[in-house]
Amino acid sequence: MKIKDLFSERRPVISFEIFPPKRDLPIDGIYATIEELKSLQPDFISVTYGAGGSTKERTVEIASSIRNVYGIRALAHLTCVGTSKEEADLILKELLSCGVTDVLALRGDPPAGMDINSVPRHFRYAADLVAHIRHVYGDAFSIGGAAYPEGHVECDDIEIGLLHLKAKVEMGVDFLITQLFFENEDFYRFLEKAKSIGIKVPISAGIMPVVNKKQIERIVTLCGASIPPKLARILSRYADAPEALEDAGVAYAVDQIVDLLSSGADGVHIYTMNRPWVARRIMENIARLLRELRKPKERVKVS
Ligand code: FAD
Repeated sequence: MKIKDLFSERRPVISFEIFPPKRDLPIDGIYATIEELKSLQPDFISVTYGAGGSTKERTVEIASSIRNVYGIRALAHLTCVGTSKEEADLILKELLSCGVTDVLALRGDPPAGMDINSVPRHFRYAADLVAHIRHVYGDAFSIGGAAYPEGHVECDDIEIGLLHLKAKVEMGVDFLITQLFFENEDFYRFLEKAKSIGIKVPISAGIMPVVNKKQIERIVTLCGASIPPKLARILSRYADAPEALEDAGVAYAVDQIVDLLSSGADGVHIYTMNRPWVARRIMENIARLLRELRKPKERVKVS
């Protein structure tokens, strides 16, 4: 079963995201993380494609292990930046040959200090990569795409960004995963707008538990997500108390997820940052909610 089918069979879909260790570090470190994430029974685990294609071989290797060693569905990220057409095809064929049939097609960010317009690439936008995958591989892959509840940093007009998103979906995207956000109302507004312009694919909400002040400040600077006052107070109060910040960050993420699940979200994608113990704490808090939400619905009796 591909990820696109999961959204109709087992909602809400719960997934984790991990990133490959840097090239100069041994790859083995990631396997303990996957082992621990496996025990939390996610519906799938996604593996990022390092900025500018810096970890491309590792992304394939780790996605293959998730699928073939750990028996979990794997979603391999692939970006236009740092990947020629030939490389993209090599990677896609390799993924198929090891049974990984789900790809998150992304444009990618420019390497640090470079402007995106000066980065040479065969596929200009994620939509072009999606179109290529559909054209060459038909339905062999289920394809995911990225979405931005607060808009994308390069597009000032959120309505125009939504039209770009719609065009990307029309090229063959089966499901969307959002950028992290800390204010659920932003997500709900985005969902409404997306629906109103005819975006019908499932949309999984990206949630990042905040456990490190400097790290989250760097990330939001890059991705443009805003920090609401409630989270800003937590960050400022516990900036120098890592254990307390972890408790508060987990509680904040759980609060967001409880609300998302109660509102009928298609899925929640947890950016684990390779911290399986944080994912565990979150999953422990929502286990009974998931059980309730996934109960088979009783058939309505017609007399
Ligand atoms: P696109 O959909 O191509 O959009 C990029 C920009 O171009 C947007 O502003 C859009 O509005 C605009 N645009 C689109 N089409 C047009 C058009 N026809 N004309 C004019 N403008 C247009 N990055 C990595 O490097 N590796 C990863 O593994 C990774 N994983 C991610 C996972 C998720 C869930 C998310 C949300 C992001 C991830 N990113 C990753 C970051 C992502 O690559 C960046 O956010 C990037 O800047 C945009 O990628 P995209 O696929 O959304 O691009």
